[in-house]
Amino acid sequence: MKTNRNIIVSISAIVVILIGIALLFPAREKQSAPKNIIYLIGDGMGFGQISTLIMEHAVNGEACTSSQIDRIQHMGMATTYSANSKVTDSAAGGTALATGEKTNNGTVGLNPSGDTLSSVLAEAREMGKSTGIVVNTAILDATPAAFYAHVEKRSQWEEIAMQLIRTGYDLLIGDGLKYFNQRTDSLDLTEVFTANGYVFYDSTDVLTVSQPADKLLALADFKEVLPQTVEKALSWLGQKENPEGFFLMIEEARIDGHGHNNDVRGLMDEMEIMDKVMKVVLDYADAHPETLVIITADHETGGVNMGYDGRPFFSTTGHSGTVVPVFAYGPGAENFTGLIDNTGIPERLRSLMAW
Ligand SMILES: [Zn+2]
Repeated sequence: MKTNRNIIVSISAIVVILIGIALLFPAREKQSAPKNIIYLIGDGMGFGQISTLIMEHAVNGEACTSSQIDRIQHMGMATTYSANSKVTDSAAGGTALATGEKTNNGTVGLNPSGDTLSSVLAEAREMGKSTGIVVNTAILDATPAAFYAHVEKRSQWEEIAMQLIRTGYDLLIGDGLKYFNQRTDSLDLTEVFTANGYVFYDSTDVLTVSQPADKLLALADFKEVLPQTVEKALSWLGQKENPEGFFLMIEEARIDGHGHNNDVRGLMDEMEIMDKVMKVVLDYADAHPETLVIITADHETGGVNMGYDGRPFFSTTGHSGTVVPVFAYGPGAENFTGLIDNTGIPERLRSLMAW
């Protein structure tokens, strides 16, 4: 009898200890840890540009529809100032979004003291995720460059192209071929990529390929086909079936230019392209619920507002210092609400990736 009582006391003690441990270390909610991350940046896309998109859809007579913004449930806004200005450029803005550190306007991937900064995309690769960049401008432009390059001046195009080789990212899709094969050093970097195991395409024909080789470099003009390109990139990354998932950085780069040009029609058309890209990534996240989508901007361009005639109007041909939207969708999205500094976005992505 005494032995039985001892056993019961021992079991009870173990149960109490286990409950205590469980209370001290609550189980992590696995559903809030994203496996895949899609980081979509609209260059120059402030609240005026978003308002333009929403209103073009909502107030359109019989044909009124919803924009993709209707699907977003977690929203915040981000400050965009750089280390040396209230109004950032894409180099400092991209660096903040990629690395979580402020730098001076014009600088890519280095802090104001010249120290190298690490990007969340490079860190995702180190963690074993598949990685990609898709842009409808030069892949060497400041915003995508911030995700892999480290240069004092964003205009160091040939050096940025050289640094792209070292990334090892799986999918590299954008424009800028001449900085790879018509260089002052006479090198043909496309051959270096090929030697490193990349399959190289110099046209949008790549979009007809069902599954390219393991690593892909496509340098062509993807301006008119950004939504289709993003759809393909997601399909290719998904087909890798990497148990660690993937991190895809996308830039809709041309909203900025229409802001600089104060081009009303151009802005409205570009926001329609952005809407289509948002549909592609949000549909992907719906079909693959372990995917977190972040949509934001490096800064606003043009000081866009909505005029009494219902059309956007501009208050500058430069960038403005207004806050920009942060839209989040999928596991972990609730971490991106409220007022965030742009550096807080990669900080939050880092902590979610560390789960
Ligand atoms: Zn600009």
